[in-house]
Amino acid sequence: MIPRPFEYHAPQTLSEAFALLGAHGDTAKLLAGGHSLLPMMKMRFARPAHLIDLGRIPELKGIREEGGTIRIGAMTTENELIWSKLLQDKCPLIVEGARQISDPQVRYKGTIGGDISHGDPGNDHPALMLALGASFVLRSGTGERVVPADGFFVGTYSTLMAADEIMTEIRIPLPAAGTGYCYAKLKRKVGDFATAAAAVTLRMSGDTVREVAIALTNVAPTPLRAKDAENALRGKALSDASIAAATELAMKICDPAVDQRGDAEYKVAMAGEMTQRALRVARSRAGR
Ligand SMILES: Cc1cc2nc3c(=O)[nH]c(=O)nc-3n(C[C@H](O)[C@H](O)[C@H](O)COP(=O)(O)OP(=O)(O)OC[C@H]3O[C@@H](n4cnc5c(N)ncnc54)[C@H](O)[C@@H]3O)c2cc1C
Repeated sequence: MIPRPFEYHAPQTLSEAFALLGAHGDTAKLLAGGHSLLPMMKMRFARPAHLIDLGRIPELKGIREEGGTIRIGAMTTENELIWSKLLQDKCPLIVEGARQISDPQVRYKGTIGGDISHGDPGNDHPALMLALGASFVLRSGTGERVVPADGFFVGTYSTLMAADEIMTEIRIPLPAAGTGYCYAKLKRKVGDFATAAAAVTLRMSGDTVREVAIALTNVAPTPLRAKDAENALRGKALSDASIAAATELAMKICDPAVDQRGDAEYKVAMAGEMTQRALRVARSRAGR
């Protein structure tokens, strides 16, 4: 339970961080809140010789709205998301999701950028990002690219991000007024990861589904976007029958790992249960 020795670096600017990444290459790891990285180092699954702490770089912090987009600095903590008036008013799905992440101690230190970059299928932000149509700003010493959340997660602990890149910002298109939302998460106890969870955003036109996004947590090696389920609902009335049919389609794409949270059959069933709940709550919150 003791990490191997490492050298700690605390750059004050992004340029300094890129210089350190360039100098130390594969032997370096970026440190955000440390709540996933440090446990891995203590178990010696990660053995970086250099830790580059992103915590003193001001441009990685903050939440603002600009040109119809919400921009969140990667080093913004879970509690800062929860306390944000902008998110409470304009993107409450993130607030609802962040409130269900672990416990208050973890939420004081854990960051949205770390939660996404880690590529853990048990983490909650990835599915929230898929449901919100987010994209991620990845910068390196030589440039910047913006990649959509859909396609970013490629496997367990694996994303499209290259070793010389830093996630600097998360961009979310401002949800239209009246967008219904819900993050339904089943966990065994406070502080646990999801057994299964579903993130939903929903726009209605009267009784008809105009737009819907459904994303699932911890029921496959990556978060899943339930596109067949969405297609089955779009343009249709949201009834018990259509919700049941969409739920079946969402369950079909699940491929959960078996662990102490349950066997595959149970987890798939719980993914279905969370999907139905999230759809019903989102409908109750959606404007007509
Ligand atoms: C007891 C416990 C319970 C938890 N329960 C939950 C839960 O229910 N739901 C949930 O979502 N999470 C949960 N977590 C994980 C927690 O949310 C972590 O904080 C999160 O996974 C990682 O964020 P971090 O800021 O701590 O990143 P770190 O641990 O510092 O970093 C994680 C990884 O991401 C990389 N990284 C970090 N920031 C960047 C960046 N800006 N650019 C590029 N790479 C970067 C690091 O190099 C590292 O590889 C739990 C953690 C604990 C200890």
